[in-house]
Amino acid sequence: MIENYSKGAKITLVGGGIVGLTTSLVLAKQGFDVHLIEAAPKLGGLYSTAYQYQDYYFDYGSHLPLSTGIPPLDRLMFAEIEASEDWLSFSDTLREYSVFNHALNQNTQCIDARKLAPEDYVQIVAELMNVPRYDAATVAPATNLYDLITRDYGEKLREQVFRPVMRKLTGLELEALSPIAHALHGVQRVVMFDEVQTKELKQIPWYDDRIADTNPRHRVSHTWKYYPKQGGCGAFIAYLEEKCKAAGVTFSLETQVTGLTTAGKKVTHLTLSNGQTIPNELLVWTAPPVFLLRALGVDTTHIAVPKFRPSVLFHYVFDKPALTNGHYVYFYDEAHKSYRTTLYENMVDANTHNHATVEAFVTDRNADLDALAAEIWQEQMTAGLLPPDTQCLHQHVQQLPSGWPDLTNAFFESQEQLRQLVSEETQNCLLLGRASGAHHMVPQLVNMWKQLGDEAALAA
Ligand SMILES: Cc1cc2nc3c(=O)[nH]c(=O)nc-3n(C[C@H](O)[C@H](O)[C@H](O)COP(=O)(O)OP(=O)(O)OC[C@H]3O[C@@H](n4cnc5c(N)ncnc54)[C@H](O)[C@@H]3O)c2cc1C
Repeated sequence: MIENYSKGAKITLVGGGIVGLTTSLVLAKQGFDVHLIEAAPKLGGLYSTAYQYQDYYFDYGSHLPLSTGIPPLDRLMFAEIEASEDWLSFSDTLREYSVFNHALNQNTQCIDARKLAPEDYVQIVAELMNVPRYDAATVAPATNLYDLITRDYGEKLREQVFRPVMRKLTGLELEALSPIAHALHGVQRVVMFDEVQTKELKQIPWYDDRIADTNPRHRVSHTWKYYPKQGGCGAFIAYLEEKCKAAGVTFSLETQVTGLTTAGKKVTHLTLSNGQTIPNELLVWTAPPVFLLRALGVDTTHIAVPKFRPSVLFHYVFDKPALTNGHYVYFYDEAHKSYRTTLYENMVDANTHNHATVEAFVTDRNADLDALAAEIWQEQMTAGLLPPDTQCLHQHVQQLPSGWPDLTNAFFESQEQLRQLVSEETQNCLLLGRASGAHHMVPQLVNMWKQLGDEAALAA
């Protein structure tokens, strides 16, 4: 699509998260006149340093910028970082571990069904091997996660594993969840067999989709991961911001789009909350699409408003190195309040950065967060992440404005309806990032590259 616009064309980017910033950089480097509008006082969105205490930095939910596998885009994003002493980079598979059935598994973030009682495990395997395999292209899709799990894995795994795990992760029962909810939480594959059996079964695509590697680190990763020695992942955002500025991007922070002027279905001008009106030839929107439609004056009241499950970040500084070398540890037991622990010392420099963030879902807005912080701190020790006599030197509790959306069919349908309305009502608006419906940084950036289109021009 980008070939339809001449150099110097005025392009407006709405939303200064990682996708908005990267897209601005790509377009500014192509010679377009890019103006980025961000509602918050600072850039970064979900990729931000959330809190700093002395020289300890704590991030929001996302931490490591990853290479995309698109060489010109990776060069643009990471070449200077790779040459810098201030950044760490590694291509090993992330060390993502899990706590399930009260046992810390330092091989995988996936649920290990072998940890269940032997009689349950035997039944789970028997059911998995006996469910009729089908061709997804010829069978009606499952209507909810309950149906999908019953059909694809069997009843025992459904009740013994997926129901409690998904209830913990989403606060919802399987019957209320979309059939893709487990995949978005990365639990669609379950460890069931030893390494040799797993390797053999995974030759068959049906099993490959459902059975997890016993140890994903035995596979070669082609993705590079980056993390700054100082500053948390916000340092990456600051670096992108500098590159954008050098490429000529104009920024308006703490600013929202209050109105859009159209000619036909083309957005020609944006009215901003700071009183400015700016001309526009292409509008790239990475904020929630509902705000674009409202600025256009399109009625969206018939579309369900998504519900979000409030998340709280518990940041800790402590006096001993962790007992695990994991980057992340996922807690799947309902008894645990922790959801995911990020151990920064394992990303940065062991022994000098003993600090961690634990994400937790806190549905009760009146919950006693200090009591919860103490409980979550204890969980890190009882689960074996930290030595039992570790002293907490500092803690900070931070509520996120919104966490994970409720992963129901209604949520995905409403997002699709909004995207559909944008495409019906406009001809020069492109939805990217989370607004496009993609869920993680790499697919979002790969999608951005494809949507912009002219690979040769972009790579130039
Ligand atoms: C808890 C959690 C954990 C995650 N963990 C991972 C992970 O481990 N790995 C991974 O790859 N991905 C992860 N993700 C997803 C990842 O964070 C996102 O895919 C990525 O950050 C999306 O970038 P974005 O630029 O599209 O959106 P965002 O980061 O949401 O940025 C959107 C920006 O738009 C701004 N904005 C909103 N409304 C307006 C408006 N009306 N006008 C102007 N600006 C507006 C916002 O302030 C924000 O800065 C996680 C997400 C969550 C919620």
